[in-house]
Amino acid sequence: MHQVQLAGLTVDTRHAIGGERIASAETFDSVSPIDGSVLAHISRGGAAEVDAAVQAARAAFPAWRDLGPDGRGELLHRLADLVEANLEQLANLETLDNGSLLRSHRRGVMPRVAMNIRFFADWAINRLHHEVWQTRGHDNNVSWDPSGVAALITPWNAPLMLATWKIGPALAAGDTVVLKPAEWTPLSASVFADLANEAGIPPGVVNVVQGFGAEAGAALVAHPGIARISFTGSVPTAKAIARSAADNLTPVSFELGGKSPLIVTDDADLDLAVDLAVEQYDNAGQVCLSGTRLLVHEGVADRFAEAFAARVAALRQGDPREDETQIGPQIHRVHLERIDGFVQRAREGGARIAFGGGPNDELGGLYYRPTLVVDAAPGSEILTAEVFGPVLAMQTFATDEEAVELANGTEFGLAAVVVCGDRARAERLTKNLVAGTIWVNCFFVRDLAAPFGGSKKSGIGREGGTWSFDFYADVKNTVYAP
Ligand code: NAD
Repeated sequence: MHQVQLAGLTVDTRHAIGGERIASAETFDSVSPIDGSVLAHISRGGAAEVDAAVQAARAAFPAWRDLGPDGRGELLHRLADLVEANLEQLANLETLDNGSLLRSHRRGVMPRVAMNIRFFADWAINRLHHEVWQTRGHDNNVSWDPSGVAALITPWNAPLMLATWKIGPALAAGDTVVLKPAEWTPLSASVFADLANEAGIPPGVVNVVQGFGAEAGAALVAHPGIARISFTGSVPTAKAIARSAADNLTPVSFELGGKSPLIVTDDADLDLAVDLAVEQYDNAGQVCLSGTRLLVHEGVADRFAEAFAARVAALRQGDPREDETQIGPQIHRVHLERIDGFVQRAREGGARIAFGGGPNDELGGLYYRPTLVVDAAPGSEILTAEVFGPVLAMQTFATDEEAVELANGTEFGLAAVVVCGDRARAERLTKNLVAGTIWVNCFFVRDLAAPFGGSKKSGIGREGGTWSFDFYADVKNTVYAP
């Protein structure tokens, strides 16, 4: 009754707390965005389940801490092995649950889940024991000590990938974790808890509490027993979490939304610019990093727009399990309507819809057509707010200074893409852009050692490499007299 068979996996619908499965009296439905079918009835946790999970994580902490980086690393590599052994099933499960393309789960996302775990396990083993240097004959001995229980809250657009981007470094650093996955995508986290168990990770080190943000999520971030809050999601939720965190002065790491620019200069390789612009529709536009504002030099704007429209018209929208599909469904009816609201308000405000502009009538369901908005009023909502769907807006500029001003003209600062034919010119442009990550003549190239995060309202702190450890660990300096 508490287990369902999906994508060749047994998925437990209960919380994973202290190595056991615990059910709540109430449940919520996990619904597939592909066809609206109900996949499972998931336990709907609240304060009691959160408290039990935090207590379990606290109890497990001393032994996990004392295992050291090598002991933890061995278990984490075993966990990554199990992710790889179940890769095909996990890819299928995640596609059922969040509607992202199966082939990208197979080739990119799930391999990255395993890599998130291995990478941070190895970093802890090889690079994080301590650093020592001398000051007037005294030894500064810096260590990254485990800090306690990390509360992890994640969104639905890349569920297990984003969860392990936090779980990997937290566990490698010696913390124990309580994960609250997004309520629209609860399934892969549940399977992950079983894999952690199977890998021999002690009970209570990895806990998963399912439920809604306002219930389980709010209880978790307000809990006085947690040492860290790492959150990926939207700006309004981050503000609510920050208020809760303030009561206990719990350190927070926030990876938030974006409205990133994609700048095309007049000397750019236009084929490349079009390729990169088309990529911004990946995951049906549900990517925080997407360059959703196309800022194109006026001298090449017409040529760019024509080639771009032709490429987008040829994109194949449909069932995300099919290999030929390039754009799948949106995650949820509520989200699709939210996306459409942005587009309709832009239209009413005088903007022109160059293509797309509504749900795909042939497919029905949650499929929204890739959309381009042009001639929107400067400063209007469609040019400043995060849509988080397959909706791009195009503006033109005359000078590089104007491009930078437009690019920096939102409250976000997550990413930017620059397509430019001259390195020195690109360097002048990027120097003045405010963004956590800038890609020049490329997109989405990620090194897990590099800092990742947002400026302005796009986040607080950075994840990746040593930045992750600086967050999850208590960094300590012990000074020894000569
Ligand atoms: P969301 O903020 O609505 O929800 C994210 C998570 O927070 C969910 O698990 C939700 O249950 C939980 N939550 C909601 N209210 C809460 C509360 N009061 N207390 C504690 N937890 C609460 O975001 P979403 O719609 O799931 O995800 C989309 C957003 O995530 C977009 O803004 C997107 O840009 C952002 N995002 C950012 C990154 C990044 O790395 N910067 C990556 C992916 C997504």
